[in-house]
Amino acid sequence: MKKTITLFVLCLMCAATALAQQPKYVFYFIGDGMGLNQINTTELYLASLNNKLGIEHITFADFPYSTFATSFSASSDVTDSAAAGTALATGHKTKNGMLGMSADSVARNSIAVWAKNSGKKVGICTTVNIDDATPGAFYAHQTYRGHYHSIGHDLAKSGFEYFAGSDFRRPEENGVELHKVCEDAGYTYAYGYEEGKAKWANADKLIMVQKKDRPRNIPYAIDRNENDLTLPQIVETGINMLMKDNKKGFFFMVEGGAIDHACHGKDAMTTIKDILDFDDAIKLAVEFYKKHPKETLIIVTADHETGGMVPGNGRYELNLKALQYQTCSTDAVTHKLNAIKKNRMKKTWEDIKEVLSESFGLFTQVPVSWRDENALHEAYEAAFEGNAKEENWYSTNSALAAKARDILNKNAMVSWASSAHSGCYVPVFTLGVGAEKYHGRINNIEIPEITAKIAGYKK
Ligand SMILES: [Zn+2]
Repeated sequence: MKKTITLFVLCLMCAATALAQQPKYVFYFIGDGMGLNQINTTELYLASLNNKLGIEHITFADFPYSTFATSFSASSDVTDSAAAGTALATGHKTKNGMLGMSADSVARNSIAVWAKNSGKKVGICTTVNIDDATPGAFYAHQTYRGHYHSIGHDLAKSGFEYFAGSDFRRPEENGVELHKVCEDAGYTYAYGYEEGKAKWANADKLIMVQKKDRPRNIPYAIDRNENDLTLPQIVETGINMLMKDNKKGFFFMVEGGAIDHACHGKDAMTTIKDILDFDDAIKLAVEFYKKHPKETLIIVTADHETGGMVPGNGRYELNLKALQYQTCSTDAVTHKLNAIKKNRMKKTWEDIKEVLSESFGLFTQVPVSWRDENALHEAYEAAFEGNAKEENWYSTNSALAAKARDILNKNAMVSWASSAHSGCYVPVFTLGVGAEKYHGRINNIEIPEITAKIAGYKK
């Protein structure tokens, strides 16, 4: 009898320990395109500003546990964001382009759905469009990531409490308006951070997007002004929304989506600024963790690497501090140059040099050799007299802006292998309850499985 009671008490204790070790709150941060070199370059850059060799620490790179994961998909060694997002969300490899489905076209629920089915509140947010591949992988099931309107319908059906990012890419199709569909499904729309602050307390479910008088798509961190949404504002509003009347906890996926776009554009400073914005958002999760240390798990990873970014270009040195003189993205420089061209403003080469100096620090802060100036001048003629461009997946840059960016990269000694994704491993950093469970080389499909197991989600 005594033995039975002891066993019973032991079982109770084990069950209590298991429960105590389950994180009630899970943050899942995904830096799109953020390979280890993107993080390393950011930390080397920060140190260079203080004329220091080595690194200045960013928050998430200091998490107590870190490892690395594969990124290949079911159809290619080089994944796209749809297949990688699906792997990180559902635990299934799929073919590039497919969203929320395994390679055999079977719809697969994501860890966000498992969390919801376990009574958790769910938030999904990003710095790019809320119907983009990474966020979409958590709520949509589509054979092709470009079915944006259908992805929007899947979002409305998800019932998740919080979405934030840039608005739908295809808000209307065949007379059906997605805002209306979302409102009918119980979502409140908030345009901008201030509106989000005013509305979250009374909203059952909230979608926060840019202010109506600002560009629909959230600009890169380097291009933002005080009226644009930032990732920290999105996370702050999300935590408020998800903690409201919350007894069972939450699952919150946060994507630094524009890191990928900047890397497609081989734009080093724009990449670094978006990683710092991502890190600022993670700091809020760390503050939350400090208030709830026994109940919080934070995972930071990436879906794949973009651009084959390398700090180094052949010499045993770096000059990353040259990047500090870049004041806007290459896309924004293209915009300026296109405006000059369109308005047929009479601009001399000296005037154009001034634009390149304001935007990239060229000529004034960053020396330009006569050979490079010749190359810039040729690009200027090709872009202004002809229509020379450089295209990548997300933007089309003026050949002149692209050449100026290349010269800054060369000066800073940053190299890029391509303007597309690579098959590199991606980093995984973890903090909090169960953080030690992510170890050894991980296949990316294991991340949602490990997380669900730690958090006790019902599939
Ligand atoms: Zn990409």
